[in-house]
Amino acid sequence: MNPTQKIDSASTEITSFTINTPLNSTNSMVDSTSGSSSTAASPTTLSRYENQKRRDWNTFGQYLRNHRPPLSLSRCSGAHVLEFLRYLDQFGKTKVHNPLCPFFGHPNPPAPCPCPLRQAWGSLDALIGRLRAAYEENGGKPETNPFGARAVRLYLREVRDLQSKARGISYEKKKRKTPPPDQQHALPPPNSS
Ligand SMILES: [Zn+2]
Repeated sequence: MNPTQKIDSASTEITSFTINTPLNSTNSMVDSTSGSSSTAASPTTLSRYENQKRRDWNTFGQYLRNHRPPLSLSRCSGAHVLEFLRYLDQFGKTKVHNPLCPFFGHPNPPAPCPCPLRQAWGSLDALIGRLRAAYEENGGKPETNPFGARAVRLYLREVRDLQSKARGISYEKKKRKTPPPDQQHALPPPNSS
């Protein structure tokens, strides 16, 4: 509205940006350097993708450690990966309308509705790609890679179809346009209580 914005003093005005995080403010990511045993490579030398991949891998490792009954990586199957993906849905920020909702199939609903928030298909798809690569970089064999399991592929396809219907978005065509905003949200750490 007002074209004359005070950009020059931006650095001092960061406090005025109200960061719009609903509910859990788990923005503090895993990369705190507090007494971790791993040799932390300096993050500045790594690309965004590499950083994200490392964070995702740590998050998954934490998920395995918190798993009941305990689960080791070597015994991890595609079914466990699906469990992990469903677990992540509670942190999702993408509205997925159910078929009874009047906004089912509307890309831009004009009003709020009580439909659940989920992880966007694009986020899950990219996440699985990173974890799949990380698994093999950490010594896992491609043949036993749980992130490449058929069940995971099928699940992702199912989520894509469901979300494209529910949100009225064709993922095929929009592919090289700007990614949906919820892709840049990093994964929250599993409950570390
Ligand atoms: Zn809805």
